[in-house]
Amino acid sequence: MRKVTLIPGDGIGPEISKSVTDIFEAAGVEVEFEIENAGEKVYNETGELIPESLYKSIEKNKVALKGPITTPIGKGFRSINVYLRKKYDLYSNIRPIKTLPGIKTRYENIDLVIFRENTEGLYIGEEKFENEEQTSAIAIKRITKKGSFRIIKAAFEYAKANNLNKVTVVHKANILKITDGLFLDTAREIAKDYPGITVEEVIIDNMCMQLVMNPEKYQVIVTMNLYGDILSDLCAGLVGGLGLAPGANIGEDIAVFEAVHGSAPDIAGQNKANPLALLFTSIDMLKYLKENEKAEQIEKAVLRVLENGEVLTADLGGSATTEELTAEIIKNL
Ligand code: NAD
Repeated sequence: MRKVTLIPGDGIGPEISKSVTDIFEAAGVEVEFEIENAGEKVYNETGELIPESLYKSIEKNKVALKGPITTPIGKGFRSINVYLRKKYDLYSNIRPIKTLPGIKTRYENIDLVIFRENTEGLYIGEEKFENEEQTSAIAIKRITKKGSFRIIKAAFEYAKANNLNKVTVVHKANILKITDGLFLDTAREIAKDYPGITVEEVIIDNMCMQLVMNPEKYQVIVTMNLYGDILSDLCAGLVGGLGLAPGANIGEDIAVFEAVHGSAPDIAGQNKANPLALLFTSIDMLKYLKENEKAEQIEKAVLRVLENGEVLTADLGGSATTEELTAEIIKNL
């Protein structure tokens, strides 16, 4: 049995993780979850944000499924999510966005993937006040050739492997001439090795408008850390919201699969959360593990439930609970 580390996380994390483990069990998936937790709850109980056993589990299993973890805004500890991505050098944050059957949205035929650089940019956490009065502060944005190269290369390789003929590079090099300029120049260099793929360069603000006007025009988007994070939520909104948007953090030998959404404290513990974002994430994890048959079985069951449209959670306009939606998917396996 393939072992995978499961980090249920904070807020809605435990509810949606249980949905996934119940569905995996019902489908007879050959994966054994090793449960390890981190985050606010663990911190309040033990004073430790990430227990040593969690690192050991990830390093042994090489693959983890992770629920969302709360990060205090402003003061308090830094993001565990960002920390884990950096520690294991999970440089590719891959976030597919796809129109789903039965989900009413303003758009049709969206099928794109965001490749977000996951280890540098403004997320390196190098911030400080510039004076004693704390009335001026700065943050450092780090862009390296190596960091840019590997995420852009991953995006082009994905396009090539999937017979897609366009990669959109998103930047703000008109203002950030050195940092974003380096990212853009690296993209231009890599593009030379892919003559069959058109490269489109779009400035981040324009990209937001383009995505709202004509999202179906895009296939592969590659960009830096913060822009990628913002575009992910924007794109999730185009196909039905954060409750449907999966993601993966991939490095050289370790992969941590997690949905785009956070811990949703406003609905935590109420049996209201949509488990599908984490379920789609876990389906992608099964494909990564080459468990394609089980991945397809679960995916088909979810699509049947969505097409039917009778059992949907509140974020999708329905009134079903997390548990009811889970039971309906199990019935359709
Ligand atoms: P959020 O994604 O948690 O929630 C935004 C909105 O979307 C909320 O109204 C929420 O109810 C809704 N939502 C999100 N997921 C949903 C789901 N599965 N089903 C139904 N509705 C859902 O964003 P936030 O409120 O800005 O952040 C809350 C906390 O999560 C913060 O501490 C933040 O740092 C953390 N966060 C963690 C991650 C992560 O673990 N990777 C990612 C983003 C935010």
